[in-house]
Amino acid sequence: MQDFAVVIVGGGLAGCRAALEICRLAPHTPIALVAKTHPIRSHSVAAQGGIAATLKNVDDQDSWESHAFDTVKGSDFLADQDAVAILAQDAPDVVIDLEHLGVLFSRLPDGRIAQRPFGGHSHQRTCYAADKTGHAILHELYCNLLKYNVTFFSEWYVLQLIVEDQQAKGVVAYHIETGRLEVLRAKAILFATGGYGRVFNTTSNDFASTGDGLAMTARAGLPLEDMEFVQFHPTGLYPAGVLISEAVRGEGAYLINAAGERFMAHYAPSRMELAPRDITSRAIATEIRLGRGIHPDGTAGGPFVYLDLRHMGRDTIMSRIPFCWEEAHRLAGVDAVVEPIPVRPTVHYSMGGIPVTLRGQVRANAATTVTGFYAAGECACVSVHGANRLGSNSLLECVVYGRRTGAAIATDLAHLAWPDLNPQPYRQAAEQHLEQLFAQQGDLRIAHLRQQVQDCMTNYCGVFRTAELMQQGLQELQTLKSRYQQIRLGDHSRYWNTELLEALELANLLVVAEIILAGALARQESRGAHFREDYPQRDDTNFLRHTLAFYRPDGVAIDYFPVTMTLFAPQERTY
Ligand SMILES: Cc1cc2nc3c(=O)[nH]c(=O)nc-3n(C[C@H](O)[C@H](O)[C@H](O)COP(=O)(O)OP(=O)(O)OC[C@H]3O[C@@H](n4cnc5c(N)ncnc54)[C@H](O)[C@@H]3O)c2cc1C
Repeated sequence: MQDFAVVIVGGGLAGCRAALEICRLAPHTPIALVAKTHPIRSHSVAAQGGIAATLKNVDDQDSWESHAFDTVKGSDFLADQDAVAILAQDAPDVVIDLEHLGVLFSRLPDGRIAQRPFGGHSHQRTCYAADKTGHAILHELYCNLLKYNVTFFSEWYVLQLIVEDQQAKGVVAYHIETGRLEVLRAKAILFATGGYGRVFNTTSNDFASTGDGLAMTARAGLPLEDMEFVQFHPTGLYPAGVLISEAVRGEGAYLINAAGERFMAHYAPSRMELAPRDITSRAIATEIRLGRGIHPDGTAGGPFVYLDLRHMGRDTIMSRIPFCWEEAHRLAGVDAVVEPIPVRPTVHYSMGGIPVTLRGQVRANAATTVTGFYAAGECACVSVHGANRLGSNSLLECVVYGRRTGAAIATDLAHLAWPDLNPQPYRQAAEQHLEQLFAQQGDLRIAHLRQQVQDCMTNYCGVFRTAELMQQGLQELQTLKSRYQQIRLGDHSRYWNTELLEALELANLLVVAEIILAGALARQESRGAHFREDYPQRDDTNFLRHTLAFYRPDGVAIDYFPVTMTLFAPQERTY
């Protein structure tokens, strides 16, 4: 067993920003940062469009109150407004701090940080580094961390969170290169494990976004919050689902259907292509359903619509969104200067997650927290995004709440004691679990079962949902779950066994999928990204509350708890 005052699982923006804050406030704290990828290969590196903050460099009418209102309205009034106020108020400060750390933001001619429009934001407030914002920020954070007392466990896979008597005590980790198992004991454990896009068959997320942290938390008997709210990004490149950033529409691109019409005029006339993502995704899915999508041969009735940049001109495209041009060119063979890009909605972001307080402490239930356990970033739900996240608010959440949670941990270390932990049973159980996977004699390949799980979620819990569909989905998921015992590993080595990791990740996908479906079935209303054709209206009387889902061997138990409304009363949401 190895001891660290703090163990952080996840090397993306949230994990790195939290680590940096602990280092700044308590410089000699021994910290382990564990990540199954190298930290700079975390999905944060792929963020393109930008990070929101009311710097007022372009629009001096902007204010934190306006940012907060846009965020709450975008969330369909499910966000906790005290959390949103902190997000909006701290935003300028964290962005300037990033600049001081060395992040190369794009500039206005006078040298100040440039800001672009983004969906659902009423002012021009998104700061960016061309269309490689996540790359610029994550690399600087990682480089800054190298000068502190952080031990990196890169390419270590965390298998289990150890919680005893509502106290987090450690994690069981597996070294991917050598197959070694290790228990890490800590006074404070922070999960910053990112999203779960791989639960679905079409996603903008990287291969590592398999919801491991969520599944480990659920297996430890702790709840997950608002998991039914899955963000579908409107412009996934057809057919791969890779993201074409919202920055492209922020810079002026149009969405057009088979008739060449800018159809957003029917769905969000005041915002057009810059409506929030839930509305734009539903609009595209509706156009496709009604036969106004496009086929690869250009005829009507097909599975995608066009994102049209042609009027923007080569100079704007190549200077503001060069990476998006390159993606479309490399992956779809489209030259966006002269041809429209085929797009359709793709699973992009998890609004729900591990429920946390404003200090990042994980909730054991609606009333109490778990000692020594924290979460931040996409895997956490604080909740600033409610039922639908606005673009450029996620990088912001990682940095604002990464910093806050890091500060909370630095403070709490003064009174957190070393937990009493016998690592032996945990190591043994993990060892046995791996041996059992190697010994399975079935005839199913992992990729096959995974595809079935992903298809099940896309078919039964997609943009449009009904009780009938989701009940079918839950049934099918039970069948798929029972088939897990039949998967057979071809590779029995302990050295760099990616097949073994895929098997472990698949088990996590199954847990997360079930929780999403159960929450979605229980929520009999339409709000934000969760759209029920059998309950098409928002129902504030019964469902203006957060879901808490507990994973149990015999199914998922659902509870609810209240939304914090300190600033704005709910109102009709039109754009
Ligand atoms: C293509 C794309 C573009 C985006 N663009 C924007 C944008 O422009 N603006 C914006 O605000 N948001 C954007 N987002 C969303 C935003 O990037 C993410 O929500 C955010 O970066 C998540 O950061 P994170 O630190 O929470 O997690 P991640 O960056 O996903 O990092 C997760 C970390 O956890 C580790 N990990 C996971 N499981 C385990 C395990 N079992 N054991 C050990 N380690 C583990 C991983 O290795 C990784 O280091 C985008 C997302 C995508 C997919």
